[in-house]
Amino acid sequence: MPVGTVPSRILTWVASSDSATPKCHERIPPELHGDELLVEVEASVFAGPELHCLDLATGRAPGGAAVGLVVATGDAAGDYLGRRVLVGPLSACGECDSCLRGRLMSCASKSLLGIDADGTLASHVVTRRRWTCALDGPLLGVAPGPEAAILAREATLAYTMVAKAGVGPSETTLWLGEGVLSSLGREIAASKGASIACATAEEMALPDEELVASVKARLRSAGNMGPWKVFETSGRDAARARALTLALQWGQLFLVAGSAVGTVDDFQASLAFALDQELSFISVAAPMPDLSPETCALVARGELDIASKVRCHPVEALETLHVELRAGRHRDKLAVVTMR
Ligand SMILES: [Zn+2]
Repeated sequence: MPVGTVPSRILTWVASSDSATPKCHERIPPELHGDELLVEVEASVFAGPELHCLDLATGRAPGGAAVGLVVATGDAAGDYLGRRVLVGPLSACGECDSCLRGRLMSCASKSLLGIDADGTLASHVVTRRRWTCALDGPLLGVAPGPEAAILAREATLAYTMVAKAGVGPSETTLWLGEGVLSSLGREIAASKGASIACATAEEMALPDEELVASVKARLRSAGNMGPWKVFETSGRDAARARALTLALQWGQLFLVAGSAVGTVDDFQASLAFALDQELSFISVAAPMPDLSPETCALVARGELDIASKVRCHPVEALETLHVELRAGRHRDKLAVVTMR
């Protein structure tokens, strides 16, 4: 038996055809089982992954990152009733070999919001207690407003990249990509005591050899002698090719998957080149939900600023926001849609 109150109707924003602006539709409220939570959505990120989901015409509401209040639960999650929680994009079985190794995207039973189930661009969304982070106890008040939604995906994704890279004090990290994900990653790496470097836009426009020489000279003159860990956060093939070039010189490369940031690209040419050079690299395709509490703790300690990386839009302005995002606007901040 569900615990709490399931509302009489649920609103979801679904596109009628691919790439169309999602419109409000009513859904029949779901039955809740086991550790499922019904979360009343407070704010939902609307960014690259959401546009990609709309392009796929899944018939589901897009939305893979939100913050909201648990209003009903399955019978195994009653302790979460009434709590404010983060809702991330991914649920997995939690028990298979892939899950036990922390590779949730390889789980055969995984479910992605917006693809396999209605996402967070809705009045309510279903998630599972196992993959949810509650913003109470020591995390109470770390992100009291809609900016908390980016803790469910982008901020934890950046933390996952840094964690997978094993970044520690006195290491140098080199960040490519000028978006919010790169900015979050730089702050998180700095919180681990690492040195932070970027390739400038001017350097990224140089031919490969000149790019490498320029970045190397700049870092060495600052006393960074390497090896350096290279992070590519745009998910775009052209930037990946440059990241591969830089990493070939100095070791390790960490790449965000296109699916995590909503890009569709052809990585084969760059991959073939990397294989020829015996480069090893690690990909990060989704935020690891178990790292959300540590990500939130950085916010609590003032080492990660999320409020400055968000611009809020009421759901009534969704159509305008959708058009503007398609036109390439709002690259400086993440768009967060407030649902109520
Ligand atoms: Zn699994």
